[in-house]
Amino acid sequence: MKEPFRRALGLIRTLKQHGYEAYFVGGAVRDHLLNRPIGDVDIATSALPEEVMAIFPKTVPVGLKHGTVVVLHDGTPYEVTTFRTEGTYEKYRRPESVTFVRSLRKDLERRDFTMNAIAMDETGQLIDLFGGQQAIAERIIRTVGDAKARFSEDALRMMRAIRFVSQLGFALSAETKQAIIEHASLLSYISVERITGEFEKLMEGPFAQKAFSLLVETGLFTYLPGFSDKQEELMQLAKYDWTKLSAPLERWSLLCYLLHVQQEVSVFLRRWKLPNRLIKDVQTILRFLSVVRSRCDWTRERMYEAGATYAYAAETVRSLINGEDGEDNRRRLRELFAKLPIQERNELAITGKDLIEWYQRPGGPWLADTLQKVEQAVLHGLVENEKERIKGWLILCNQTHGKNC
Ligand code: ATP
Ligand code: MG
Repeated sequence: MKEPFRRALGLIRTLKQHGYEAYFVGGAVRDHLLNRPIGDVDIATSALPEEVMAIFPKTVPVGLKHGTVVVLHDGTPYEVTTFRTEGTYEKYRRPESVTFVRSLRKDLERRDFTMNAIAMDETGQLIDLFGGQQAIAERIIRTVGDAKARFSEDALRMMRAIRFVSQLGFALSAETKQAIIEHASLLSYISVERITGEFEKLMEGPFAQKAFSLLVETGLFTYLPGFSDKQEELMQLAKYDWTKLSAPLERWSLLCYLLHVQQEVSVFLRRWKLPNRLIKDVQTILRFLSVVRSRCDWTRERMYEAGATYAYAAETVRSLINGEDGEDNRRRLRELFAKLPIQERNELAITGKDLIEWYQRPGGPWLADTLQKVEQAVLHGLVENEKERIKGWLILCNQTHGKNC
């Protein structure tokens, strides 16, 4: 048994010693069968949440309504969820409350895709009631049970199907794909936050291009925030290698660029309910993208103004758009950046306080102007970034009425 499971074995055994059933379930079992890195190890049990909490000394009731208790075991938190069915679904969404059951079968039955509905016991034995292993072998994403019914219960599953395509490179089964085509509009009942979560994973997957094509083919894109009239642009997304990007900021920036939403970018990103910080950062990247068309457009001022983090992010996106080697361009940018006399304002050898002292003048707009003048002079190598040198340069500057500076 692989290490992440082995570490949680004690937890499963304890539940069993108390007379309950307990299994590894979900993404970890799937990823183990795929030989992918195993993420969070989740556990399903016949014990009720309060029973789980009574057994283990360190627990956090994170989602009691849904039957989930986090158990701290050997310093690692594990989600332990009671076998459950989801009862009746309202408005094509996950229900607010669930029904706890004592049967593993029922719990596996409510799961979204066959590959995600495999359980594994403490001996490594698989309980695969819906052909999950076969689906994994065939690299097919197939709903557990009737696809149309499953997407009507919870329409987010359509987004999940396509984000798994992006992560795993699997194909959708014909029935699953057809059901998405027919039920795409139900996505509008789903909260934006849940859609955004899946979409971010979709953009990040190694097969994002395939996923973008599927969003168009199935018509699901129509129900994504701000996408309804973007079919043409969306086709463009499938042409770029998104794996060259390494952060959400770069991905959202490329998305906005390719969808031509530069003007109304904050409106667009707010519809996705993204944090304000990220929205501001995307705007910054887009601003640099619009002025830096070629790698030679990175001047000292632009790099200084952008700062290293934004400059590298913008250059990564720019290189991808232009089909250039991003790594090479970033290295070049790093070298240029290293040569700047100062890389940010607080590296300047003087402060406003020095200027007030030297000029014997109270603060005012002149202060910011002068600081900026010094900053530019240092940046361009007109004066060394050293206090006395700057003082001398300012004196000369005043004596010559600005001619020498
Ligand atoms: P990841 O590696 O991205 O975490 P995952 O398969 O673990 O993938 P989660 O969102 O963590 O996905 O969900 C854990 C498990 O819960 C899934 O494997 C699936 O069995 C079940 N599940 C999650 N969301 C749904 C849903 N909307 N409908 C039905 N089952 C779901
Ligand atoms: Mg998971």
